[in-house]
Amino acid sequence: MENPLTPEVLADPVKLTRALVDIESVSLDEKHIADCVEEVLRGVPHLSTYRHGNTVMARTELGRAQRVVLAGHLDTVPINNNFPSELRGDLLYGCGTSDMKSGVALALNLAVTVADPRYDVTYFFYEAEEIEARYNGLTLVSHAHPQWLEADFAVLLEPTHGVVEAGCQGTMRVVVSTTGARAHSARSWRGSNAIHAAGEVLRRLEGYEARRVEIDGCAYREGLNAVKIGGGVAGNVIPDRCEIEVNYRFAPDRTPEQAQEHLREVFAGYEMRVTDSAPGAAPGLTAAPAQEFLAAVGAAPVGKLGWTDVARFAAMGIPALNFGPGDPNLAHHADEHVELDKIRAGDAILRRWLSGV
Ligand SMILES: [Zn+2]
Repeated sequence: MENPLTPEVLADPVKLTRALVDIESVSLDEKHIADCVEEVLRGVPHLSTYRHGNTVMARTELGRAQRVVLAGHLDTVPINNNFPSELRGDLLYGCGTSDMKSGVALALNLAVTVADPRYDVTYFFYEAEEIEARYNGLTLVSHAHPQWLEADFAVLLEPTHGVVEAGCQGTMRVVVSTTGARAHSARSWRGSNAIHAAGEVLRRLEGYEARRVEIDGCAYREGLNAVKIGGGVAGNVIPDRCEIEVNYRFAPDRTPEQAQEHLREVFAGYEMRVTDSAPGAAPGLTAAPAQEFLAAVGAAPVGKLGWTDVARFAAMGIPALNFGPGDPNLAHHADEHVELDKIRAGDAILRRWLSGV
């Protein structure tokens, strides 16, 4: 098998992005790309390289005072008439260009070319981020080889369009239920309508004033929304139950327990059960490598509103942020693309940061 990641390709983050995009790697089909990346890293004398499944980790062991992680997932969502890549002017189109092979290319290029970084660096290329957590390479390695991930700070090269997105919001889903009593709709006064009772729940949601929270200079905007509603028995029966599914996106100053407590207050008087939750992550910008990273970027960070693997790093006690060249609004779209200038700018920033000049 010919490895398309040749020395000439590896030396240029733009060419490298294109070569990585052209290795098909839909989730659970990352063996080939992981083989290519592993072969490259094993050939780099200043790195020690390890592999778990289709996750590849390589690190410097220079005895520096601090260690940082540069991480990116190797998988993409399913191809959608956007493979292989296509260059149109200054834009590279194709599945994974934004999310997140341009970010992986930056990390891989640095892994190969920066032999003397100011921190020890762990380069982490992992499988299966786009699907259920049980396949996620970061989760699997955190259980199998937690020492691989020991670090003082992590940068996840997910698409942020060249902006630092710090921390992330938590998410919780709850089902709020109303109850009533069934009756024939011809004699409705004999029953009690649970769907009508849902009106009060919806009014509380409509009138809800979501918090805006600022942490370490990053603004987070919360949201509390009904996302689904269900109820009813038949066309001639007064319904005795209605369920409103609610999604709460909460700022990282609240734990899931505090978020739940807050929702119990909002929906006081109603039955409520939690069906799903994931904690947020504080921006974690106080560590020295994080401060030095912000200085290298030279622009203020913003709060991450979606949930990303930054929260998995935070759960391991490692402050982490997102920073990548792709546009997050294009991720998972058929016309996904990345601006070549954003790749070059990202490369310059990361190189400045790691080399400390
Ligand atoms: Zn991604």
